[in-house]
Amino acid sequence: MIFDIEMETLPREELEALQLRRLKNQCERVYANVPFYRKAFDELGVSPGDVRSLKDLARLPFTTKQDMRDNYPYGLFAMPIDTIVRIHASSGTTGRATVVGYTRRDLDNWADMMARCLSAAGITRRDFIHNAYGYGLFTGGLGAHYGAERLGATVIPVSGGATKRQAQILRDFGATAMTCTPSYALHLYESALEQGIDIAKLPLAIGVFGAEPWTEEMRAEIERKLGISALNIYGLSEVMGPGVSMECAEAKCGMHIFEDHFLPEIIDPATGEQLPPGSEGELVLTTLTKEGIPLIRYRTRDITTLNYTPCRCGRTHVRMGRVVGRSDDMLIIRGVNLFPQHIESLLMEAEGTTPHYQLVVTRENNLDHLEIKVELPAEIFISDEIRRIQQFERKIQKNVKEFLGVTAKVSLVQPNSIPRSEGKAARVIDLRNAG
Ligand code: ADP
Ligand code: ZN
Repeated sequence: MIFDIEMETLPREELEALQLRRLKNQCERVYANVPFYRKAFDELGVSPGDVRSLKDLARLPFTTKQDMRDNYPYGLFAMPIDTIVRIHASSGTTGRATVVGYTRRDLDNWADMMARCLSAAGITRRDFIHNAYGYGLFTGGLGAHYGAERLGATVIPVSGGATKRQAQILRDFGATAMTCTPSYALHLYESALEQGIDIAKLPLAIGVFGAEPWTEEMRAEIERKLGISALNIYGLSEVMGPGVSMECAEAKCGMHIFEDHFLPEIIDPATGEQLPPGSEGELVLTTLTKEGIPLIRYRTRDITTLNYTPCRCGRTHVRMGRVVGRSDDMLIIRGVNLFPQHIESLLMEAEGTTPHYQLVVTRENNLDHLEIKVELPAEIFISDEIRRIQQFERKIQKNVKEFLGVTAKVSLVQPNSIPRSEGKAARVIDLRNAG
């Protein structure tokens, strides 16, 4: 189902004309109202009047997470504070949180986009949505909440945490859809099983998962265990929150970026140069309709690709690939670049592995050491056959060496010994610069 049939299927030419109009307008507004942007435009010798085609985007200044931190908390707001009706902040996964503000119109657009997302997943007004994204400053909970209401579905605002109780609510309230991080979906599944509740046997049919990177292998695992269709949703608080892009149930192949509201580019993170269509690089987003805190060329630090080929669902908006990692999550182990998701894929391939893992990086005698802690699959653990366990360890080690070119120590640990997260999973513990 397409929630906004007109906007989501706008022919490319019309879409680009709309984007250009909106881009000009955003540039005028930030130049007039945000000292940071006036300075940044002036320093590059560009003015809003120089934007004559979408190609001129490349002439505009970038905005980085550091710029947002430098202007903490409200320095980048483009509207008087009395028109701001809500504040959110990023989760602070990679440092000091950044603060964002929304006008009434921003919230309205956000609810629309989230409704588009839920709809793209196949959710309708007849569905009950178990919303286990955290409510609060984090954008996940309230973002999904208002989208669900906008769609006309019934939202169950469970928020994160109290996992045991969540399993009971899931069983008793008859949710047909759920929203949370993919790692939490698996955690909830396990916790429910411990109480004798098999989620696969409940009416739950659709999951909308995001806020952290995950893999196709993990999707397969979630779909198999929970007996649902699992879809990927992307967003970030700086740009809006969840609902910047969403997979469609028809293709399940890339997330449509709502291009009437956001203008995407892919750049080389090292040089800042725009890369040709199809290349992998850092996603940069320019907001086209935001009032509270419009952003020009925001560097998301998320590494992905853009696919402009038409989608079978009929939406004309570009699709972004899975985020393979954050440019600042990238590990460099003895000179080899590596994202946690690369290792996740290998772990999942190794027969029977659950995706609970953690990467611990240390430095001894100026050499990087990577330890992969993986929870043993319960069957193997119970069988307690030393030989099987060792085989398993060796297999993972060999694959990591072969496919990623990194020598890692693999430690198999007991089921449930790696801490579970109620929001974003912490996959990397980098102790190289500690102490
Ligand atoms: P923080 O940057 O502090 O985690 P946010 O809560 O705003 O703040 O999280 C946004 C980030 O979450 C994105 O920049 C991206 O790295 C990650 N993210 C969100 N959705 C997805 C997704 N579907 N796949 C991979 N990563 C995602
Ligand atoms: Zn599609």
